[in-house]
Amino acid sequence: MMNWMSMATSALANSSSTTFLLHKTIIPFSLTKTSPFLISFTTPSRRFLSASSLPSLSPDIDFNFSHYGDGNSVAVSRRGSKVLLKGMTYSELEKWVQSHGYRPGQAMMLWKRMYGNNIWAHHTDELEGLKKDFKQMLSEHADFKALAVKEIHAASDGTRKILFTLDDGLVIETVVIPCDTGRTTVCVSSQVGCAMNCQFCYTGRMGLKRHLTAAEIVEQAVFARRLFTSEIGSITNVVFMGMGEPLHNIDNVIKAADIMVHDQGLHFSPRKVTVSTSGLVPQLRRFLHESNCTLAVSLNATTDEVRNWIMPINRKYKLDLLLETLREELSFKHKYKVLFEYVMLEGINDSNEDAKRLIELVKGIPCKINLISFNPHSGSFFRPTKEERMIEFRNMLAEAGCVVLLRPSRGDDQMAACGQLGKPGTLQAPMLRVPQQFQTAVGSSTHSL
Ligand code: SF4
Repeated sequence: MMNWMSMATSALANSSSTTFLLHKTIIPFSLTKTSPFLISFTTPSRRFLSASSLPSLSPDIDFNFSHYGDGNSVAVSRRGSKVLLKGMTYSELEKWVQSHGYRPGQAMMLWKRMYGNNIWAHHTDELEGLKKDFKQMLSEHADFKALAVKEIHAASDGTRKILFTLDDGLVIETVVIPCDTGRTTVCVSSQVGCAMNCQFCYTGRMGLKRHLTAAEIVEQAVFARRLFTSEIGSITNVVFMGMGEPLHNIDNVIKAADIMVHDQGLHFSPRKVTVSTSGLVPQLRRFLHESNCTLAVSLNATTDEVRNWIMPINRKYKLDLLLETLREELSFKHKYKVLFEYVMLEGINDSNEDAKRLIELVKGIPCKINLISFNPHSGSFFRPTKEERMIEFRNMLAEAGCVVLLRPSRGDDQMAACGQLGKPGTLQAPMLRVPQQFQTAVGSSTHSL
């Protein structure tokens, strides 16, 4: 097994053209638990795919979801004349291999080398055991890689943030989160930026630049395993909680999740692949019908008034509709629990009344609730709820019979924590008007972050 540095170097060496190899620069680093580090690489020159250069930004008051597209994919499964292998499900790959005159068995051997057996092949040179003419056909007609590593940052708690450059020069972020229990989670992005403009989220400031293709999503998980398995052990869980609203890019997200759970490939358990949504009701319904992976709903408020403000998607799909849809859909699923995420904002959604309302709201829905500490970022005027208050809130839910967990912040010293990903430019989504009764709660902290 290669060590971490050589894996990173190899990942880059395999990532692009000869020109890039001649010009790459690797800055030496030291890996310590206490001092964050940064590895910097030159960005390879890449061919460009179509993408809008301007972000789609939320309007201030008149929230209109049609501004953000209809959720259809803009999937790019080809690069020029070549097909992107990681954008194909196994059955698509099998058909594609057969269309080039090879047996299905060759497709399975290729699949296993791309996704399994600790190979995670990025190049035909890594396809040991495959026939020479098959490899030749692959190098002529297919590309293995959709992403290039740009930088890797490590936070003091062991969390890693990987920055990837896409073909069109845009950058996405992926976070790898080791846990004491032996579980390691990779948090993948599904879009560049996000259209949803949740007021507590740094990514939301960016607006939406574009959807990621299935290949770009899958490869984040492949890279996480390739770069870090030898150092921190098996990567067991995937959460779609990086940049973007996954269900706004539902076609590519369902396809990517499908590829990730294939039992001859990456073989993540569907229970350990969690797709999060801010509450896109029609897409959520479709996801529950078409995927057996886990659904998380980012709830964060117990009244429409607060949710309309901090999560503008609520103006389109109100709390009642969201929760009634879950109640109805989950009644048809066996042993399935939805995960509710609740980011705790001091003075906004953390009162005893909120706890009581939350208990009522989730009644009849098989669920777990994660209480998440808010991660401050530049420009945000919210404050995290204090730990003692979070514990009291948790206890109220637990006493009412809810399954509830407190989730500590991870990776926040490297802006790798929940809600901290991305890099808004000068053109940013607007902050919405603060309802009268919360002006005191946010007023004193407006300039404090
Ligand atoms: S919390 Fe999620 S859905 Fe909301 S703006 Fe951030 S990335 Fe988008």
